Amino acid sequence: MSIFYLLFFHLILSSDVWICAFRIQLPGLRPAVVNKTAIDLVSPQSAARVNQDKLHFSQQPRIGARFAVPGNTAQQTDAKTQLSTRPLRIIISGAPASGKGTQCELIATKFGVVHLSTGEILRSAMRQNTPLGQEVRVYMDHNRLVPDDIMIRLVSERLQQPDCSTHGWVLDGYPRTKSQAESLLQSGIKPDCFILLEVPQDILLERATGRRTDPVTGKVYHVRFSPPQHKHIADRLIHRHDDTAEKIITRLKDYQHHTAVVRTYFEDVLVKVNGNASKEEISKSILGTLSRIQTSIAAGVGVK
Ligand code: AMP
Repeated sequence: MSIFYLLFFHLILSSDVWICAFRIQLPGLRPAVVNKTAIDLVSPQSAARVNQDKLHFSQQPRIGARFAVPGNTAQQTDAKTQLSTRPLRIIISGAPASGKGTQCELIATKFGVVHLSTGEILRSAMRQNTPLGQEVRVYMDHNRLVPDDIMIRLVSERLQQPDCSTHGWVLDGYPRTKSQAESLLQSGIKPDCFILLEVPQDILLERATGRRTDPVTGKVYHVRFSPPQHKHIADRLIHRHDDTAEKIITRLKDYQHHTAVVRTYFEDVLVKVNGNASKEEISKSILGTLSRIQTSIAAGVGVK
C-alpha cells in the first residue's frame, strides 16, 4: 500500500504530467519545438518566430529537414504558414516585346503578388484623361521616358498601398533609370529577385511589330504567332503607336542603355532568363526560381 502511495505522489509531482495537462487544457498554445520546457508554450505566431530564429542562427538539422521533405503536403503547408515572414518582391526587366507582361501574369497567378506595370498605369491614365495622363502624354507620344520625379512619386505611393504590403509585388518597367533604382533602395525597398529576360533584337522586332492589343479585354495577340480566333475581335485590335519598327529600335537602344546602369544596383539578386523560348519553358524557369527564393525566405536565409 505504501508503495502505491509513493508511486502516486511521484506521478503528481512529475513535470511531464503537468505539462501534458497544460497542453490539453490550452489547445491554442502549441509547442515551438518538441521539448518540454515551459518557454515552448507560446502562441502560433511566436512559435513561428522562435522556430525561424532557431533555424537561422543554429541551423538545427532536424527542423530544417521538415521543410525539405518532398511530397509531404501537410508538413509543407504547416511550414509555409508558420514560417512565411513576408510576401515576394520581384522586379522584372526586359526589352519591349520580351514577354514580360505574359510572365508577370503567370507570376501574379502563382504567387498572388500584385502586378505593377508602369507602362500600363500610364497608358490607362492617358485613356481616362486623368491629370497624370495629361501630364505624361507628351512624353509617351514622343517615346521619351517620363521624368523621374513623376515616376518615383507614382511608384512609391503605389507600393505603400495595402495590397502591395500584404501580397507582395512584381514591378514591370520600373526602375528604368539610375535615379529610380537609387530611390527604391534608399526607401528601404530591396527586391528578392531582379529577373532579366534576354531576347535577341531581331526576334524582338518581329514580335513587337506584329503585336496587337484588344482594348476590351486587354489581351495581347500577335498577327502571326497568336491571332484571335474570332473576326469581331480581330477587327477591334489596336496597334500600339510605339510598336512600329522605327520606334521599337529607338526603344531598344534606350532600354539597353538604361538597363546597363539599373542592373548594377541589383547584381546580388540578378537572375538572367533566356526569353527566346516558348512561353511555357520561360515560365517554368522563372516560377521555379521564385519558388526556391520563397523557400529560402521562409527558412530565414533569403533577402531581408
Ligand atoms: P512600357 O509599356 O514599359 O514599354 O512603357 C511605355 C512608356 O511608358 C515608355 O516608353 C515611357 O514613356 C513610359 N514609362 C514606363 N515606365 C517608365 C519608367 N519607369 N520611367 C519612365 N517612363 C516610363
